[in-house]
Amino acid sequence: KKERFVSVEELTEKILRGSRLHLAKGITLLESITSQDKEAGQQLLLNVLPKTGNSIRIGITGVPGAGKSTFIEAFGLMLANAGHKVAVLAIDPSSTVTGGSILGDKTRMEELARHPNAFIRPSPSAGTLGGVHKKSRETMLLCEAAGYDVILIETVGVGQSETVVRGMVDYFMLLVLTGAGDELQGMKKGIMELADGIVVHKADGDNLRLAKKTVKEYRQLLHFLQPASPGWTSTALPVSSLQQTGLDEVWKTILTFKETMERTGHWEGRRQSQTKDWFRSMINDRLIDAFFAEPGKKEAVAELEKGLLEGTLTVTHAVDRLFN
Ligand code: GDP
Repeated sequence: KKERFVSVEELTEKILRGSRLHLAKGITLLESITSQDKEAGQQLLLNVLPKTGNSIRIGITGVPGAGKSTFIEAFGLMLANAGHKVAVLAIDPSSTVTGGSILGDKTRMEELARHPNAFIRPSPSAGTLGGVHKKSRETMLLCEAAGYDVILIETVGVGQSETVVRGMVDYFMLLVLTGAGDELQGMKKGIMELADGIVVHKADGDNLRLAKKTVKEYRQLLHFLQPASPGWTSTALPVSSLQQTGLDEVWKTILTFKETMERTGHWEGRRQSQTKDWFRSMINDRLIDAFFAEPGKKEAVAELEKGLLEGTLTVTHAVDRLFN
């Protein structure tokens, strides 16, 4: 099939008119590493920038098997059927195994993927940052420009991924399972302190009673934690994605959250500080890249490391030498 060249202007126009095909092309452009594409991608982003920001950005995390993709499909379908436009930045499970494929898993979120109000973009880097791509923020902005008013960003708790996603969303949700008494004890307090809401998932059938008990336990626990967002008390809700119960409560809670945060100015305030943090972290990345791109730096680091291990240098000395 012949790939027809699309100008940045045409891409901009089609994306703003809501073409999913062109949205996908735009994201591919942003992810490209050739300098020509990078330039075009940034121009595209600049063109659409005035049309961004009009969405609720929701991060969703949980261990594999917690039911993230089932939840996103049920929740996304509910919203899409209600007339919302839902964009999902999803984990591509195939990439965890093969380390790079972007074919996606056809069985994940199949129904949502076919919905005219939905757009699903699998992330190719599940292995490195729990499904969060370096370009996820820019992808999110492009989706907003295309008219998506709900953005769902999925991640598995790998390394820093939770913190990274917390840093790009308005509302951060943790999916947990019942019967997790010990999990509750052992769960990293840190992750719970990032969450604006906890979904006790698979609250159905024989599991329902235990789910309700687990909800109570989480609510008690949340009382003792620092709030994830100022002026907001994080809470837990029972949900079954299979039986589609509790989903509308989750949505109502998110809307109340938005109202509350807007009233206090924290909604916009958080987004602004997120943009600043993003800027700072890109500066850091760029500095590190530039440093190691200088001829001889990698070798010098290796050489100094030897000295450190032999005890002939202090770490501060070694760093001083690198920079002098
Ligand atoms: P992920 O790894 O977090 O994306 O989890 P999946 O969405 O793939 O779900 C893992 C398993 O949990 C699947 O077998 C689902 O059918 C099951 N599951 C998901 N949601 C529910 C639910 O609401 N109730 C029940 N009983 N099972 C569920």
